[in-house]
Amino acid sequence: MTEVFIRSPVHCPICKQERTSQRTKGEIVDALDNNKPIRAFVECHDWHWDLTESERKELAATVRA
Ligand SMILES: [Zn+2]
Repeated sequence: MTEVFIRSPVHCPICKQERTSQRTKGEIVDALDNNKPIRAFVECHDWHWDLTESERKELAATVRA
């Protein structure tokens, strides 16, 4: 199976800069369908967090477009 990568914008919670996050489509669909947390990471502040409900919805719209 070919891995499809989805690029989506995430905002650093600390400096509010927009960064691009890249994950495989399979990983995102699995997390959305099974209600698993989706981790986001920004390198500007070396910060990890779980996507919020609104961020998940945005991502879902991107993946299912
Ligand atoms: Zn930052």
